[in-house]
Amino acid sequence: MTFTYTFELVPARASRGRALDEILKFAKEAARDGVLSALSITDNAGGHPALSPTALGREIKDLGITPIIHFSCKDKNRNLIESQLFELDRHGLRHLLVLTGDYPRYGYNGIPKPVFDIDSVVVLQMITQMKAGYSLDPRAPCGGTRLPPMHFHPGCVVSPFKVLEGELMGQYIKLKRKIESGAQYVITQMGYDARKFQELIFFLRDEGLEVPVFGTVFLPTPALARAIHKGVVPGCTIPDDLLPRMESWQQGAAKRERLRFGARLMAILKGLGYSGAHISGPGLEHSDVQWMIEHAEKIGERWWDFLGEFLFPGHRQHFLYEKDEKTGLNSRKRAIHTKQALGFLDYLSYRFSLLCHEAFFEEGKGLYGPASAAFRGLSRAGLQGFLTFLEEAIKGPLYGCQMCGNCVLSEFAFLCPQSQCAKALLNGPCGGSNQGWCEVWPGKRRCFYVRIFERLSALGQECEFMSRAIPPRDWEEWKSSSWQKVFSKKKS
Ligand code: SF4
Repeated sequence: MTFTYTFELVPARASRGRALDEILKFAKEAARDGVLSALSITDNAGGHPALSPTALGREIKDLGITPIIHFSCKDKNRNLIESQLFELDRHGLRHLLVLTGDYPRYGYNGIPKPVFDIDSVVVLQMITQMKAGYSLDPRAPCGGTRLPPMHFHPGCVVSPFKVLEGELMGQYIKLKRKIESGAQYVITQMGYDARKFQELIFFLRDEGLEVPVFGTVFLPTPALARAIHKGVVPGCTIPDDLLPRMESWQQGAAKRERLRFGARLMAILKGLGYSGAHISGPGLEHSDVQWMIEHAEKIGERWWDFLGEFLFPGHRQHFLYEKDEKTGLNSRKRAIHTKQALGFLDYLSYRFSLLCHEAFFEEGKGLYGPASAAFRGLSRAGLQGFLTFLEEAIKGPLYGCQMCGNCVLSEFAFLCPQSQCAKALLNGPCGGSNQGWCEVWPGKRRCFYVRIFERLSALGQECEFMSRAIPPRDWEEWKSSSWQKVFSKKKS
């Protein structure tokens, strides 16, 4: 199997200028040299506005090298997503990297509205339907028509570099869901721990998921390494032991050290069974990338010699497999799950919610019959509005309910995704959490999915974590009653 190399380009907040000239110079050299298989282009990276990856992708394609368009969900609703997919197909830009995206920041005149209408799993489902021939909603203008197939090649991202079990399980279960929804390749989030890189390969094999996996080889500058280590870059971490080494990568002779480090990591990825390396890092020139690739190829089977540089036993993180003491990597034995302890109030709130749900909302059980009879009585008397009022009065203070009309509380251990997850995600966490904290409120609010995992785990129900894919919200239902749907036996 050929080991392939790709490189990540980060467009600036401008449509012309030096930064763009440098990107195009890099792309020209890459097209001429042929050692990189593709160049990926970020989509408003870090949540900042920038030149669109489609605009740059067209230019890069014309230069004769394959662009991979990062396609995120943060700034666009489902209609714009569909429209942009048509646009990409029109321009022959078929290689996509579908991701949730960082929370939007620093827009014109303030922080922009975060959209996150649909998540990466649903975008992948949409792309899969487009590939097969997209059938338009029969109610829409020209409804029922089937569009010609669009030949996309979508991939997705995962981060195995998570500290807590709840964070890690969320990543892996979501990855499985993304692949089942159509992702054809996987790129890792940045990270440096070889045991973690190997864990992902083992997980995919154990789940029977056969897709090419590319490991990110991210080479920060010393200043950026310090910022990442502090936790200011969503979802990215640098182990304590590694920071001094990265801080020493100043310009001049030490620059080679930075490249040597990258080359060794690439050789290790190849040795661990990865399909390729996805290289990125500010200020890297094409000649640097060439040097790293040549050096990595020279290392070849000697990757074992450098493994110790990429193992961080002192860095606290959860592993899916037990350690292989001989190599410092993983054994094939799954690590034992540790039951989580919940705070008293959290436990009480979860237990109470479960009890109420079983008593009133499970069809054919408990008080479901009398409750729906009471609802029908209210409806006949023209008082359905009272039920809506009651639902909002109870669920608002208890769950932060926003009356989305698509209630999924029982699927999420009675935590509301609409009000508790900054990105309102329905199909698993984004990659942004750090040590269990939400990307958007670090140190203030814990990640919604970590909280769900902890609730389920406290009651021995962790196998129910993210047990099914959830369809996107239907905004026609916004501010309507979910109880009404349950009691009138319509699907909620
Ligand atoms: S709560 Fe978790 S999944 Fe939601 S935005 Fe924050 S880090 Fe991402």
